[in-house]
Amino acid sequence: MMFEPDALARKSKELEGATPEQILAFAFETYPKIAISTAFGVEGCALVDMAVKLRPDVPVFTVDTDYLFAETLALRDRLVEKYKLNLKVLRPLITIEEQTQRHGLNLYQSNPDQCCAIRKVEPAQRAIEGLDAWITGLRRDQSESRAAIQILERYDHADGQPYVKVNPLANWTRKDTWRYVMANGVPYNELLDRGYKSVGCWPCTRPVGEGEDERAGRWAGQGKTECGIHTFAARKG
Ligand code: SF4
Repeated sequence: MMFEPDALARKSKELEGATPEQILAFAFETYPKIAISTAFGVEGCALVDMAVKLRPDVPVFTVDTDYLFAETLALRDRLVEKYKLNLKVLRPLITIEEQTQRHGLNLYQSNPDQCCAIRKVEPAQRAIEGLDAWITGLRRDQSESRAAIQILERYDHADGQPYVKVNPLANWTRKDTWRYVMANGVPYNELLDRGYKSVGCWPCTRPVGEGEDERAGRWAGQGKTECGIHTFAARKG
């Protein structure tokens, strides 16, 4: 398995000219314990479509924060049905009621970082425990905070064991993603036809106007751009 930072950096550079399918094929061949994470954005749907064509039983995980739109849950069911997805749904350790008792009403307003830590980051950390590689649908042109992602990135688990984050769509634009989705009949969230460009939890997502950044509708006015799932660990290479 390839974990050494310099070797990973070389391979990552080499894969800059590869298709997402070629990157997925490399990851499947190289890392036995591997899974895809998705919140069922358009990138995740495209990635799932590509991945199941290469490996039908590829493990996929998602986090259900208890604050998801009905449209997102309907899409999740549709994808499971269409692809017979090997999907694991992770949930927070506490319910919304317990969260309210401990931290007050609407933590997503008073302290969205803490709400995301409880309802998104901790379940995702549980899901990646023990993996050799974690595949995501991140793209560089989604936002400034994602502009520097590499195709292969090295991280360490809490116990010090290494893992690799694989970003097969790092090079793709929003247009590339939509082109793939339309050409392959991939299901996507119907909210994306109703002015939303990125869909998360309903209290923290709003539609965005023409010309606005595609993640501008997430935590609008809160000075927050990431939930923490992709930023909780420091890169090692
Ligand atoms: Fe809470 Fe909003 Fe984060 Fe969802 S996106 S976990 S509702 S703060």
